[in-house]
Amino acid sequence: MAELKLSESRDLTRIERIGAHSHIRGLGLDANLQPRDSSQGMVGQVPARKAAGLILQMIREGKIAGRAVLIAGQPGTGKTAIAMGLAKALGEETPFAMMAGSELFSLEMGKTEALTQAFRKAIGVRIKEETEIIEGEVVELQIDRPATQGAALKTGKLVMKTTEMETVYDLGAKMIESLGRDKVQSGDIIVIDKASGKITKLGRSFNRSRDYDAMGPQTKFVQCPDGELQKRKEVVHCVTLHEIDVINSRTQGFLALFTGDTGEIRAEVREQIDTKVAEWREEGKAEIVPGVLFIDEVHMLDIECFSFLNRALENEMAPILVVATNRGITRIRGTNYKSPHGIPIDLLDRLLIISTQPYTEEEIRKILDIRCDEEDVEMSEDAKVLLTKIGVETSLRYAIHLITAASLACQKRKGKLVEMEDISRVYQLFLDVKRSTQYLVEYQNQFMFNEVPGEVDGVE
Ligand code: ATP
Repeated sequence: MAELKLSESRDLTRIERIGAHSHIRGLGLDANLQPRDSSQGMVGQVPARKAAGLILQMIREGKIAGRAVLIAGQPGTGKTAIAMGLAKALGEETPFAMMAGSELFSLEMGKTEALTQAFRKAIGVRIKEETEIIEGEVVELQIDRPATQGAALKTGKLVMKTTEMETVYDLGAKMIESLGRDKVQSGDIIVIDKASGKITKLGRSFNRSRDYDAMGPQTKFVQCPDGELQKRKEVVHCVTLHEIDVINSRTQGFLALFTGDTGEIRAEVREQIDTKVAEWREEGKAEIVPGVLFIDEVHMLDIECFSFLNRALENEMAPILVVATNRGITRIRGTNYKSPHGIPIDLLDRLLIISTQPYTEEEIRKILDIRCDEEDVEMSEDAKVLLTKIGVETSLRYAIHLITAASLACQKRKGKLVEMEDISRVYQLFLDVKRSTQYLVEYQNQFMFNEVPGEVDGVE
């Protein structure tokens, strides 16, 4: 591995879909880190968000090394939402990796390998690359089209005048065509080949690996925001250590990043990468951005995983570990001992514990409103009242799930506004936990492997 491969990962944009937490854009705190009632998609849960705000401050001041946060509370009380909000509040670049404790027990890789990958997904590396600086303001930036436009649109000139220089560039026909207009606008990007002095690209979209890497150090590129040339000293790429691992792991290759089929990564690969990143850090070329690793259902981890976590937290590059559980006193997996949340006392001792509380009716209503907006679902007032009632009686999550289902039911009857009838239709179609349990109790004899009454592992 002579050269670390980074280029492939530059273009990996994370696709944002409407997910369970896509409405969460931060912790919803004011400048003094006090929670607003409803802000950035976050509603209520004030004490927990206040605590998360303090943790945010500690992280920003670099005072959280070696510690971790436990969010404990009943199902659906926003534990994941708060962890997500924390990561968002830390900034767009902060990596956020999320996994459920049970995911560690897959057959594809060992537990510690899976945990190592999760940790490295939550450690970002900001890599800086120098580009040429262009000083001065833009006085004129105009494409001088030939008199006979249209069919004769074969060549053109770009006059770039700054206070210190005036350069006239010849533009190719393709470039002009692709631009489709005669004035360079704010946000346009001009890529200039330093060796030949020719403009190689001009336009709004800019594909880093195709356009920039193909030219490498021969390139100088400028972006024009509002008539001013941006003085670009450096280009910054942010990737995670895990992405670098996968790209450099010979057996996998970068495509594994898309399939998620990364398999185990050899220890030597990681060592080499760590050494290289340490070199870059010393040379001032890279910075480590510790992100947030969120492990849900932490009670599903076993004693080996817990001791791994204890050790991993000592690492200076460690991300902020946020774990969550909805269990009370339960058995620590892999032992016969019970402990609070099923977490060994030595790890518990390191954790800052935040607890979440069930939501009031009003809060449920507000969260449902936000979710309707997020999912682009228009719902009548009556339907919202009914859905809130369902949320109170069953669970917030169940009510959230009904939004999309009800909107599909509404589409089916060619309606525009989700009405009470749609909600009650999907309420009848999909059981909530309470009704499903009732059903099971009534018909238990007709199911295979019926073990009631008995104990469920971990909750005895
Ligand atoms: P579990 O214990 O089952 O893992 P949880 O406590 O992690 O549950 P979440 O998944 O965070 O609960 O919450 C359920 C849904 O409600 C999610 O879609 C979440 O984004 C939303 N939600 C929860 N709390 C809030 C809140 N305070 N503001 C806005 N949305 C919230």
